[in-house]
Amino acid sequence: CGIVGIIGTEPVAPRLVEALRRLEYRGYDSAGVATLDGGTIGRRRAEGKLGNLAQKLAFEPLGGTIGIGHTRWATHGAPTEHNAHPHATERVAIVHNGIIENFRELLTDLGKDGYLPKTQTDTESVALWVTRELDRGLAPEAAVATTLKALRGAFALAFLFKGEEGMLIAARRGAPLAIGHGTAEMYLGSDAMALAPFTSRLTYLEDGDWAVITPAGVTIRDGSDGIVRRETQLSQASA
Ligand code: GLU
Repeated sequence: CGIVGIIGTEPVAPRLVEALRRLEYRGYDSAGVATLDGGTIGRRRAEGKLGNLAQKLAFEPLGGTIGIGHTRWATHGAPTEHNAHPHATERVAIVHNGIIENFRELLTDLGKDGYLPKTQTDTESVALWVTRELDRGLAPEAAVATTLKALRGAFALAFLFKGEEGMLIAARRGAPLAIGHGTAEMYLGSDAMALAPFTSRLTYLEDGDWAVITPAGVTIRDGSDGIVRRETQLSQASA
């Protein structure tokens, strides 16, 4: 239901939770964060209130200066910790708002190659599809570009890749997504509220856009993968 992301210079896990708190008003049944801790994907997820996730992180902290977070409003799969986002394979972690309409077809196709889901969500099909593209040798950007062409439905997505400390990828089709510009840091969020503690300089993705976010800035492409310019504006949301 809510998505956040940070490519930072300081530990991100507590700040991802802070950003998620600002999306609580949308409602949710579970929450989670993933970071790259020493290059590998680490995750913490919890059912119920964000306090449960914060408590988990207090007992089992997650290092890392790049990460993504999610509040879930379950549409496919019970609202359990097991089905909570981020969904991850060895290679990629993803958070997702919305619905992947053709997830059953995707999973059938993936199953033929031995990529089997562990959860009941529509979302996991995306994580597995990207993983198969990466396993075929595609770079993260190309893996996401081909994956987006396979998806049907309305969604916002964010991707975090193993070993890629300087890159997040985000995609928007039917659900809003804003990129936040900081100083030496970049952010991602479902709305300006989520990012207000960090920055008021925002670039909104347009429908069909996808973006490669690095500490230096953002490259945005449209649905046909051509580079596009999107205006950066000052948000009125207060921190
Ligand atoms: N369809 C996804 C799920 O049920 C995402 C729901 C959401 O937008 O939070 O896990």
